[in-house]
This record gives sequence, structure tokens and C-alpha cells, in this order.
Amino acid sequence: MSAIFPTVRLRRLRHHPVIRDLIRETELNLDDLIHAIFVKGEEGEKNPISSMPGHYQIPLSRLDEEIREIVSLGIKSLMVFGVPSFKDGVGSDSYSDNGIMQKAIRQIRKVAPDLLIISDICLCQYTDHGHCGVMDDHNSCIDLNNDKTLEILVKQSISHVKAGANMLAPSGMIDGQILTIRRGLDEAGFSHIPLMGHTAKYSSSMYGPFRQATEGAPKFGDRSTYQMDPANGREALREAGMDVLEGADILLIKPAHTYLDVIYRVKQAYPSIPLCAYHPSAEFSMIKAAAANGWINERKIVLEVLTSIKRAGADFMVTYYTKEAAGWMREKTSS
Ligand SMILES: [Zn+2]
Repeated sequence: MSAIFPTVRLRRLRHHPVIRDLIRETELNLDDLIHAIFVKGEEGEKNPISSMPGHYQIPLSRLDEEIREIVSLGIKSLMVFGVPSFKDGVGSDSYSDNGIMQKAIRQIRKVAPDLLIISDICLCQYTDHGHCGVMDDHNSCIDLNNDKTLEILVKQSISHVKAGANMLAPSGMIDGQILTIRRGLDEAGFSHIPLMGHTAKYSSSMYGPFRQATEGAPKFGDRSTYQMDPANGREALREAGMDVLEGADILLIKPAHTYLDVIYRVKQAYPSIPLCAYHPSAEFSMIKAAAANGWINERKIVLEVLTSIKRAGADFMVTYYTKEAAGWMREKTSS
């Protein structure tokens, strides 16, 4: 008897729904999802982000209720992005004790002591030119001063941890950011704080709605002198190797569902290092737009996309769909 058709029939294991459940290789859980929010200003109403339906710039006065809702949905981890009212050439609001992020983190920590707060470490929201670091000259993004930027990222990191952040996610693709921040944190007495490096963050078109949300679009040029070329897959392994050597606790790939091959390759190369994928704003907004037009089944598409990101090799992910996914997963569990 040979192990081919008709002896072997792979459909046998697909007939019964419980067998399908038993042999399912990838299971998406709410614990796999990190939610993300945008905080801006002290008072007023939540400001809807038109390109990201359901997401808002949230003033501090409305932050408590937002956090209570997130916790009530069973969400355990949160990435926070601050939109400062003051910007300058070196992004000084990013490390001010009275900066928007520091205030937001302190407030969230009070309302939800057990919520994991992950803070984004980068300067693009805070600089008047919108680039992710200090520029030697405002004429070209080639002039991003790598090592001066690192000094500011360390100050920003220490200040976020002092405010109450549990984990930092340096996202600027600045060479040496993991090593330098790690040393800075250790010297400041924060050796217990993990770093989730944006290991392979591509110079992608998938961040457009996010830049509306954070008001952080570059005023000139683009980010291609520090973020990766979308055409490059092998280079992600080199970036991952550097991050591992520099002491990254978690590797992160961004975008996610258009970069599943990169997620797969990095996971294969570094199976023992936890891998996060960032499902970015345009990947969210494209699904939202199609769903709003009635062209797709939003719930099925989203759960399939997020499961695919995990199947490719991500252990967990950041997504703007966390709130909705929490509801869908709860319905599935109780049905
Ligand atoms: Zn940035």
C-alpha cells in the first residue's frame, strides 16, 4: 500500500469541525495582540482620525475612560504614541518630564496599574522637520546625525521609564539604537526594562494614516536613508543579527501582512528570540475602507490576516484592530 491517493486522503481530517480544531496549527489569542492609541492635548473632545475609523487623538482629560474601556475588553498591553503641542529641531518634548508621553504614561499607570505600557522611542512626532532624528542640515534627509540622535533617544528612554513605561520600542532604525539605549537604561538603574527593537522597519507607504494620527510626516524628503528598502529581504537578517548582538529582547518587523516573507525569514534565523510584527495603519485602513463599502467580510478578513501574521512566524503583534478582535474572540469563545 503506498502512501498516496487513494490510500491517503487529506480531506479526511477536514470533515469534522472538532478534528479541524484539534489539528489547527495556529491559534490567535487576545494575549497575542497589542493595542495602540494616540494621545494629544490636555482638554477637549476626542478627535477622530479620518483615515483610521474608530481611532482618535485622545486628550488627557478623556484618557482615563479610554483606558478603562481597553482593560474591560481584556486587553493587557498597549503601545502609546504622544502628539506634542511643541516641536523643535531636536525633539526636546520627547524627553521632557512634562511632555505629552510622560503625562500620558503616568496617568495610564495610575488608572490601570497592571496594563503593560510599551512606549515608542523615536523623534519624528517631536521634531519640527518630522524626521526620526536630529538633522545637521534641513535640506536633505541624508543629513540625519545618527550619533547625536542616539544621545537624545537615551534621554527619551530614561524619561519614559521614569514615567512608568514597562517596555520600550525604539522605532527609528538609527544604527546602534539598541546597544546605546540598553547601556543608558542599565546605567540609570533600569536593567529590567526590555527593548523591543524595530529590527526591520521598512520605508513603506503603509504608514500614511499613522502620520496623520501623529502629525509626524516628514516636511522634506522621505525616510529612506534610515528605514529599509521595501525591495530587500536578506538585509532584514543583517538588521536582526545586529539587534540580537546589541541586546534586543524582542525583534519587530513592520509592516506585517505585506511582509510575511520577512517575518518568516527572521523567525527561521532567530527561532529563540520573540518576534513581534506591527500591522500598520494603512494595512488597517485598507481593510476598513473595503469593509465600509460592503466589499468584504471585515471580521473574517481581519482574523485571517492576523492569524496569517502569526502563522508566518510572529509570536504576537501590534494592531489597530485589537478592540474589535477582542469582541470577536469573546463571541467565538462563548458560542
Ligand atoms: Zn520615527
